[in-house]
Amino acid sequence: MKIFNTLTRKKEEFVPITPGKVGIYVCGPTVYDFIHIGNARPMIVFDTLRRYLEYKGYEVNYVSNFTDVDDKIIARANKDNVAASYISEKYIEECKKDMEALNVRPATTHPQATKEIPDMIDMVQTLIDKGHAYEKNGTVYFRTRSFADYGKLSHKNIDDLEAGHRDEAHQLKVSGEDEKEDGLDFVLWKPKKEGEPSWTSPWSDGRPGWHLECSVMSKKYIGGTIDIHAGGEDLIFPHHENEIAQSEAANGTEFARYWMHNGFLRIANDNDEFEKMSKSLGNFKTVREICKMYDPVVVRFFMLSAQYRSPLNFSAKLIEASKNSLDRILTAADKLRDVIGKNNVAENVEDDAEALKELNTFVERFDAAMDDDLNTADAISVIFEMVKYSNTVCDKVSVDTAAKYYDVLSVLMNILGISIEKKEETLDADIEKLIEDRQEARKNKDFAKADEIRDKLLAMGIELKDTREGVKWKRL
Ligand code: AMP
Ligand code: ZN
Repeated sequence: MKIFNTLTRKKEEFVPITPGKVGIYVCGPTVYDFIHIGNARPMIVFDTLRRYLEYKGYEVNYVSNFTDVDDKIIARANKDNVAASYISEKYIEECKKDMEALNVRPATTHPQATKEIPDMIDMVQTLIDKGHAYEKNGTVYFRTRSFADYGKLSHKNIDDLEAGHRDEAHQLKVSGEDEKEDGLDFVLWKPKKEGEPSWTSPWSDGRPGWHLECSVMSKKYIGGTIDIHAGGEDLIFPHHENEIAQSEAANGTEFARYWMHNGFLRIANDNDEFEKMSKSLGNFKTVREICKMYDPVVVRFFMLSAQYRSPLNFSAKLIEASKNSLDRILTAADKLRDVIGKNNVAENVEDDAEALKELNTFVERFDAAMDDDLNTADAISVIFEMVKYSNTVCDKVSVDTAAKYYDVLSVLMNILGISIEKKEETLDADIEKLIEDRQEARKNKDFAKADEIRDKLLAMGIELKDTREGVKWKRL
């Protein structure tokens, strides 16, 4: 498999550190509110990466944190007059519910910053001991210029950054950070302000900086060098750049071998231009509200309709298009299920063999698309071709071949995190009754009444179809 590595800006063949095993760390959300569907993009994309690597036979250790101590959490807690931990615990639970709805599997470990403070203090001490960090009035800063490779991920030149910081000198004074040796230095540990959660440390009662938590938790749950580090592209600088500096300076080993960054989910503004969905712009939709409007499966399928590095525009029209596309696949699965139930024999043995050969080609092409830097857009196109072909041949092939098509479709869709199994849906008793009444009317040749009931059901969002196997219903 090839992965586009932000570090080298090239697609590189993926080779894990330990054969057969992969350690992935994905930066998770800061939990101060419901997550928005932009936050769901990395969750869905990298969950799909995990599923694909498992399909290829790797054992995956998937670690994704919750940032549960942060200015935004504290601000929200103060506003609601509750403890910060109340806010973070509440929104971790809500986030897990959203993930489940979107069929994002729980990580192997979901570490929380507040539960790993002793290890963070240890790493800060190591950095001080090695001359990469210093304390001033209870705050510990990372000495950025002490790390020669600073800027290697974001491809920024440290002197350009310095110039930028000089312009910000005034702001630094305002924020009280003028005590730093260098404008580029960043916080590893900061003292508490009145009313903030805090932990005892050799430097002050306070809390860790945001970047530090990922360096510490990835090391603890994966190791000093991790295979794949992932997150949204806004995290490249400064978050991931700072993680590298801290980890490599402290551990003396390479931090992460492959860096994967997803593009933004965008939404139209008042001028019909698409811009990043974000909390600060106020243009966000929560996963919770969107999943009330659309089946979460459709939302997941929509997220995978673009390759993960491309920007993806969100709109009702595009979600509708995804719904229709997914329906095509699910209808083909229904058809295969019907065919399998009929125990067909092949009309023509050669055509049957040909259909099996085609099936292998579809799988090869699906894998090739996914091997090309997780190109889910192309992989989905292959699935469309496969279901189109399946629709035309499934009546003519043997039941075994139809079953193989069904199984393969199921496996490929499961990699995308979507089940093709029929959901056992139950209808409300009054709807069941209407369907029975209509059958009765048809038996009595009272077609006017039968049509009337059919229209009534349609208005209730239930479409009936009379087939040779009997009456079937579908929710619209
Ligand atoms: P945050 O809670 O802001 O740290 O974000 C959690 C994750 O969601 C990070 O990996 C972000 O890069 C990602 N993210 C935030 N907004 C978007 C967006 N509009 N599109 C894609 N990813 C996003
Ligand atoms: Zn992180």
